Amino acid sequence: MGSQRSTTRIQAAQKKHECPLCGGHRVTTSMHRHTFSYGSGESAVELTVDVPVRRCEPCNFDYLDEVAEDAEHEAICQHFGVLPPGEIRRIREGHRMTRARFAEVTGLGEASLNRWENGLTIQTQAYDKYLRLLALPGIMQLIEKSGTGGASLRPLSNVGEKRFQTLEVTEDVRRAQQNFQLRSAA
Ligand SMILES: [Zn+2]
Repeated sequence: MGSQRSTTRIQAAQKKHECPLCGGHRVTTSMHRHTFSYGSGESAVELTVDVPVRRCEPCNFDYLDEVAEDAEHEAICQHFGVLPPGEIRRIREGHRMTRARFAEVTGLGEASLNRWENGLTIQTQAYDKYLRLLALPGIMQLIEKSGTGGASLRPLSNVGEKRFQTLEVTEDVRRAQQNFQLRSAA
């Protein structure tokens, strides 16, 4: 789905802009500062972003297209301090993984990933932090090795268990030693 959209975007960039009213191609583009609101009630915010405004001269008609939509979405992501869709896609593509494979390895939902990469929803802060970690070298290999059962996580907790057991043993040993000393002193 995401690949469909990026294909559309490339086509849009290559072909001349088409007026949605007359279908003509006498469309000019100029950048304008655009303010929009996001959210509702107390959490509503006003954001400002530069967007390309298309203008069809014969129709005397100004309009915004998907490029402006993407710019708005990026501004929202920036406002919340989370990765924009393009960055998420870059992280996945950096691992040379399909969305299905990426979802399988990371445990993220493929549908969620699809929505984030296409700017349909915004990932939570927790997912955003996870995605950022996945961009770090070595992390993906670590997760891939762990498999779906979390095999690499188990040895870590085993280490903790062993250390705890060792402490118990030491105490037992100490008590045994004390008993032995008391017995030998008596
Ligand atoms: Zn027109």
